[in-house]
Amino acid sequence: MTRRWLFADQLGPHFLDDRRQPVLLIEAKAVFRRRVFHRQKAHLVLSALRHRAAELGDQARLLRAETYAEALRRLGEPVEVAHPTSRRALALVRRLDGVTVLPPKGFVTSLADFAQWADGRRGALRMEAFYRFARQRHGVLVEGAEPVGGRWSLDTDNRQSPPKGATRLDVPPPSMPKEDDIDAEVRADLDRWEKKDGIRFVGRDGPRRFPATTREARARLRHFLRHRLPTFGPYEDAMLAADPWMAHSLLSSSFNLGLLDPMEAIRGAERAYQRGQAPLASVEGFVRQLLGWRDFVWHLYWHFDPSWRRRNELAARRPVPAWFRELDADAVTARCLADVLAGVRDHGWAHHIPRLMVLGNYALQRGWRPAELVDWFHQSFVDGYDWVMTANVIGMSQYADLGRMTTKPYVSGGAYVNRMSDYCGGCAYDPKQRLGERACPFTAGYWSFLARNRDRIPGNARMARTMAQLDRLADVDAVRAQESRRGDTAP
Ligand code: FAD
Ligand code: SF4
Repeated sequence: MTRRWLFADQLGPHFLDDRRQPVLLIEAKAVFRRRVFHRQKAHLVLSALRHRAAELGDQARLLRAETYAEALRRLGEPVEVAHPTSRRALALVRRLDGVTVLPPKGFVTSLADFAQWADGRRGALRMEAFYRFARQRHGVLVEGAEPVGGRWSLDTDNRQSPPKGATRLDVPPPSMPKEDDIDAEVRADLDRWEKKDGIRFVGRDGPRRFPATTREARARLRHFLRHRLPTFGPYEDAMLAADPWMAHSLLSSSFNLGLLDPMEAIRGAERAYQRGQAPLASVEGFVRQLLGWRDFVWHLYWHFDPSWRRRNELAARRPVPAWFRELDADAVTARCLADVLAGVRDHGWAHHIPRLMVLGNYALQRGWRPAELVDWFHQSFVDGYDWVMTANVIGMSQYADLGRMTTKPYVSGGAYVNRMSDYCGGCAYDPKQRLGERACPFTAGYWSFLARNRDRIPGNARMARTMAQLDRLADVDAVRAQESRRGDTAP
């Protein structure tokens, strides 16, 4: 049987055809020299790779080398590998002698299914339509050809503000893994790389909070389905300063490392609904994220040409400032931004809304270079991978392609943060003010952004009301002048 080469994001049992198949794992140091990763991300990836090697014992060879090519030369036998998850890695495996490339694994829908669905569709490709197709194709939450409950999306039942007066959601915290000797060894190696090999990281080190094995990932999944899923839906979009995890699953890094098969989680959520353990709105919300968004952004990465990653249609030319790049949350006064940036610094993770409506929103308003943000998100988050970035950052968060996958930019003022969180109450700024000492940088930044990009943003019904409001603002020039004085200093 040919040896299966597993990249460090292909680590679960579903990446092997046979339980006894010989395996190759490669720890390539050049990867860590190329980018400045979050320290906890580097730890998680190495820990997961080494745990897999330990699980497989004699069945696997773990080679430590500077590059993948060097390790393969040392191995000296043919290998096969599942379709890698980045264009760079795909080009590499196609270039190397003796490597057979197999179809991708780790996603629910196949490349062929997506091509068939996308072919012949006119206009923008929309997640909603793909999601419906995928549910029908795989029989998820359907009765015949119809959705369980009569509606494909229960999004309007979700998206609630946080419960009044609560500082935390009333759910048990996520199950956390326990570190072991392998983690201790990884930590010592990373310390040494930093001191002696000139490899640099960002963010703080801390206890490993994300699963490094399939067993740990399944434990987190079970705990989520039993205790946290019912609350997931209604508060999916809410933020609380004292509750970074809310009722999210914290499983993205496990899916992206290949530890957990997404279909296992989807079927688990479906069963929770059938047994009456979770309401349909929460289950549908979770399935939409995983089968809808996750598969959709994966396919868009391959479907659109590589130049998509470099799109910058809003002409955003300012470099990402050092305080943001280096996760210097202490330099920031704006409570929402300081808290979310501190979360990234301390955990390498934030849930979807802080990523989109705090970090991404601020960058969009300020006109920071989208390609630099792609790198920043990729490096700073434990679940960051090339394939997930283009759609989420270029398409969704920075609107740098003028709406290939969204109908309008995800930009908002402080009113949104105020409605969806408890941040504004304790902030030095006031979300209602756009001018003066206490002007909220998000509110002022919102109007500045719209005024600056008025002619670039394509007109459509969803933007018409916003633009009419902009036209009625008498002080817009003063707001723009104020924000240009604020520039890229930490707000
Ligand atoms: P949950 O809220 O519990 O959702 C369940 C699962 O759905 C997630 O584990 C994830 O696998 C999947 N999912 C949900 N939304 C998306 C999405 N938009 N794209 C892909 N998968 C999704 N996700 C990543 O996996 N890696 C990233 O690097 C990443 N970067 C992002 C950057 C920006 C600017 C934005 C707006 C979103 C990004 N996301 C990324 C998507 C999403 O924010 C995370 O997947 C989610 O917050 C992870 O937390 P969770 O596992 O608790 O997710
Ligand atoms: Fe953020 Fe503005 Fe609210 Fe302060 S007032 S927390 S800066 S949205």
